[in-house]
Amino acid sequence: MMELFSPGSVWLVGAGPGDPDLLTRKAEKLICASSIVFYDALVGPGVLDLIPVGVKRVAVGKRAGRHSKDQRTINQMLVDAAQSGERVVRLKGGDPVIFGRVTEEMAELAAHDIAFQICPGITAASAAAASAGKSLTLRGLARKLIFVTAHAKSNEPVDLDWHNLAEPGATLAIYMGKSSAEIVSRNLIAAGMAKDTPVMLVENASLENEHIFHSRIDLLPLVAKTALGDGPAIMLIGPAVARDQYVPVQMQLETMET
Ligand code: SAH
Repeated sequence: MMELFSPGSVWLVGAGPGDPDLLTRKAEKLICASSIVFYDALVGPGVLDLIPVGVKRVAVGKRAGRHSKDQRTINQMLVDAAQSGERVVRLKGGDPVIFGRVTEEMAELAAHDIAFQICPGITAASAAAASAGKSLTLRGLARKLIFVTAHAKSNEPVDLDWHNLAEPGATLAIYMGKSSAEIVSRNLIAAGMAKDTPVMLVENASLENEHIFHSRIDLLPLVAKTALGDGPAIMLIGPAVARDQYVPVQMQLETMET
């Protein structure tokens, strides 16, 4: 694989949710074979510790409301590094192809004839479910899993198909939704979601300061406002993430069998 990392090429690498042990072996190999790493704010400190001494590291981090570099600047930095013969790793939190704005970077690299490849990572929803011991899908109760972002451009409303999202039988994984908790709760209930639909909020999933909160959709704004700190948080909504999920499932299986 390392032969593929030729000078002047770029790997867009998933850094996972934060815990360095949740990095793929391939991601670690690429980091070790790189000559420069550009990383986002959400990349865990333990992952950054794996960057060998002597490899250049450049923070291009974006966190909600605190843009350090705009996307055009980041694109240009990647192009410049590749064109000067670096082996470039572009590290992104979670999986780079899930709300990772990887398309802009790929388009820019392609426009400059720069070779690039993607190394997947564990996305926040998977890490959050694993930490809480939940399954994101559930036979009979959650047949679909919807990854959705509730992030809105400043001064624009969150524009989502609420009726589609409120349909029963799904688990919603809402990324970048912390500041939209009130809008999410109000709109899902207005679209027909039961008020007591389980919600699980996971902040800093897989990190030492991880917190898991169980609530219901009507109380989501309160929990988001009072319980969450300023770490990244994911909201999981639906019967699959109920606090006491094992009990009803077990009971259901028993009733199904009899
Ligand atoms: N590509 C990333 C998502 C980037 S969008 C992935 O696949 O996970 C950023 C959002 O992801 C955050 O606002 C938050 O909702 C979620 N997120 C990322 N890391 C997280 C973590 N460690 N714990 C909880 N949520 C996280």
